[in-house]
Amino acid sequence: MTQTKTLPHPADFSDIRDWVFDLDNTLYPHHVDLFSQIDRNMTAYVSALLQMERDEARKLQKQYYLDHGTTLQGLMIHHRIDPNDFLEKAHAIDYSALIPQPKLAAAIKALPGRKFIFTNGSVKHAQAAAEALGILDNFDDIFDIVAADYVPKPAGSTYDKFMSLNRVDTKRAAMFEDLPRNLAVPKTLGMKTVLLVPQNLESTVVEWWEKASGEEDHIDYVTDDLTAFLEALI
Ligand SMILES: [Mg+2]
Repeated sequence: MTQTKTLPHPADFSDIRDWVFDLDNTLYPHHVDLFSQIDRNMTAYVSALLQMERDEARKLQKQYYLDHGTTLQGLMIHHRIDPNDFLEKAHAIDYSALIPQPKLAAAIKALPGRKFIFTNGSVKHAQAAAEALGILDNFDDIFDIVAADYVPKPAGSTYDKFMSLNRVDTKRAAMFEDLPRNLAVPKTLGMKTVLLVPQNLESTVVEWWEKASGEEDHIDYVTDDLTAFLEALI
């Protein structure tokens, strides 16, 4: 399927009854960059845990991310850390960069059916971010890394857990994500997939971004404006 950064036709989504949203860099734009704070906290955690210099800790942190999908999973496997303690410390951040988005809230509210947040972060983090955006009340449930038994997206077992817990009919569901690889399983399951890209990307960069994912086939739509995309469906 070709992906262009154009708005969808409402008819394309008329069967959709379950709307599944990633949190970070999806429900708020990439340039807000909350992740850099979380990233620094994780480095500090690894550094304190293993008595390492910052640079060394950061290398290990990134290695665990590459090897295990999250830094947390690597730390649990190799160092048997308490995941709750890690999540608490990683997400001890300043949310003031997020401001209420009434248009986004209205657009989410107007979608027919259920709305979910499906994140590799914690419920507490998702609640804090969604609250700051003024959209928390629009969601039926939050599925987090704890509910996923600490196995992050894109693991198939984690999608299965989410879908069966919430009895999602994947043929009538859509997934919104900023990481192309996290849309592969949803596409296989028959979901509509929407990739969020950073704002103000030149079209050539968008092309590169899409190609960089390697497997473009699993991305139905690309957008840099979630609110406009959802408004177009109503
Ligand atoms: Mg994300």
